[in-house]
Amino acid sequence: MDTIPEITIASLIDRYDVLLLDAYGVLVNSSGALPGAAELTHRLSESGKPYYILTNDASRLPTTAAARYRACGLTIDPDRIITSGLLLKGHFAAQRLVGARCAVLGPGDSLRYVEDAGGRIVSPSDAFDVLVIADESGFPFLETVDATLSALFHALDRRQRVHLLLANPDLIYPSAQGFGIGSGSIALIFEAAMRLRYPDRTDLRFVRLGKPHGAMFAEALRRSGTRNMIVIGDQLETDVAGARAFGLDSVLVDSGVTGASSTPRLPPTYRMRSLR
Ligand SMILES: [Mg+2]
Repeated sequence: MDTIPEITIASLIDRYDVLLLDAYGVLVNSSGALPGAAELTHRLSESGKPYYILTNDASRLPTTAAARYRACGLTIDPDRIITSGLLLKGHFAAQRLVGARCAVLGPGDSLRYVEDAGGRIVSPSDAFDVLVIADESGFPFLETVDATLSALFHALDRRQRVHLLLANPDLIYPSAQGFGIGSGSIALIFEAAMRLRYPDRTDLRFVRLGKPHGAMFAEALRRSGTRNMIVIGDQLETDVAGARAFGLDSVLVDSGVTGASSTPRLPPTYRMRSLR
């Protein structure tokens, strides 16, 4: 990545009207706030510089996420937190899914997101119209996946329409122990299983809502009212690719999933070693 110019936070604040910050791998990781994160959020708040947190997390409501950041020493208003879970509301409205029976994989806050979007929560082993994969946590993995797959096949065997929604498309995430598989990997398991059983059904794919897909950047644009925004992230495949596709500049920070040694196919506009 030698040819990608390095940039400082001060220059970013000068050049762009709005900062869009990824959370995990940029501001926080499993052990707490990353170097420079507390100083940066404090500086942005004090100066009134507009910024938003853009996170694929659909396992925490913005208020829950803000409380977690606060415990790490970061003061962030929940209104500045745009999660992939929040995107469900617009999708449910656009696709006329309000009132639909929804099986949801994820913890309590994921269910709240679906309820807030107008979905009616049912057990994954019961009949459902919508399957939402929100997060990999909050349920006994194998038995829930098996029950969901069985109910899904039961519906598809009867040619029922089932909407498949993946709120957080992240495949892996860095954890305290090394890495963990994310909810995007669970969707791949379901898609592989459906290909096996219904090889002629090319429509059986999850609609993906979080980064790199456009809905989250569109929500940031709706809130900020300007395209002069810069995306600051640690993942090429989500933060940088998503920013590029939406026509925004991006910074790759070396503190997360994409290591400093990778040579990106689709390079970011700038790079930064850390927020400091
Ligand atoms: Mg990240």
